[in-house]
Amino acid sequence: MINILFTAKHERWVDYEAPLRAAFDKAGLTYTLGTDIPAETVDYLVYAPGGTVSDFTPFTRAKAVLGLWAGVEAIVTNETLTQPLCRMVDDGLTDGMVEWVVGHTLRHHLGMDAHIHGQDGIWRAGIVPPLAKARKVTVLGLGALGSACAMQLSALKFDTHGWSRSPKSIAGVRCHNGEEGLIDSLRGADIVILLLPSTAATENTLNVETLALLAQDGVVINPGRGPLIDDEALLLALDHHLGHATLDVFRVEPLPAEHPFWSHPKVTVTPHIASETRADTASDIIAENIRRSEAGEPLLHLVDREAGY
Ligand code: NAP
Repeated sequence: MINILFTAKHERWVDYEAPLRAAFDKAGLTYTLGTDIPAETVDYLVYAPGGTVSDFTPFTRAKAVLGLWAGVEAIVTNETLTQPLCRMVDDGLTDGMVEWVVGHTLRHHLGMDAHIHGQDGIWRAGIVPPLAKARKVTVLGLGALGSACAMQLSALKFDTHGWSRSPKSIAGVRCHNGEEGLIDSLRGADIVILLLPSTAATENTLNVETLALLAQDGVVINPGRGPLIDDEALLLALDHHLGHATLDVFRVEPLPAEHPFWSHPKVTVTPHIASETRADTASDIIAENIRRSEAGEPLLHLVDREAGY
């Protein structure tokens, strides 16, 4: 019998209980699953931030912590966590992110706002956007989400660039890495999309110097994490050459009501909704990882604790 503890916000349990049971049954596991299992008897933790577990010391038998989120910054530095940590790579999450990123990129590329906000009887002829191939779009982070977004933007014929820690080769995407690569990927970029993890190395990737590299009227789209951007530097750049920032994630969430992003005419705030883990597809990933662990096979999507993602 495998004991699986679900630890996340209460509403997640409501969403996940049935899909997890279906996936575990399909995988042929013999298990108990619940939100209240004595710590010393737990074999696996299915984890998302907001649950009751912050000290992993009592989970002496646990073989792995299986995260439901792609981002692991809330748990990766937890020193009580000695068990292997896996993050979520889920087809549903990836598809959702591609849709959100492509949608917001096209909003700015096509200048949709001019018409959406201008239903006032004025015939605004003559606003012809350039074709996508004339726009440099850069995706910072070419992991599960960033590479899928870059490939789709390239399919739309954007002049697509990407940046990652290690060298990459993705058809249709000019891939950069390293410090020089960051500068090359940002120089003259019309639209920059952030899909990096939040780590010590990625904090303030967009700052006064790097924001200055973007094209006149350039746009920043951040569905990654708040700390990737120096907020003050972004506000300054928006008052000068930048055209817009669409921000889904923030250093403090919910974004405090008094934060200047809410009232800035060149900022769109969305409430961390770019993409959700989807319970059905994610449950299959969790079940597969438990099956692998029990069979002595390597876990999928293991987090590199030193790198922080
Ligand atoms: P991932 O597969 O781990 O990819 C991360 C990418 O960032 C990799 O390409 C990695 O390079 C690159 N990277 C990491 N550190 C770097 C550094 N110091 N310099 C340059 N590149 C660096 O992650 P993912 O699944 O694509 O998710 C990315 C992030 O999206 C998550 O961490 C999370 O914060 C965010 N997210 C947001 C939402 C939302 O709703 N807003 C939903 C899901 C995820 P290598 O390839 O060389 O390792």
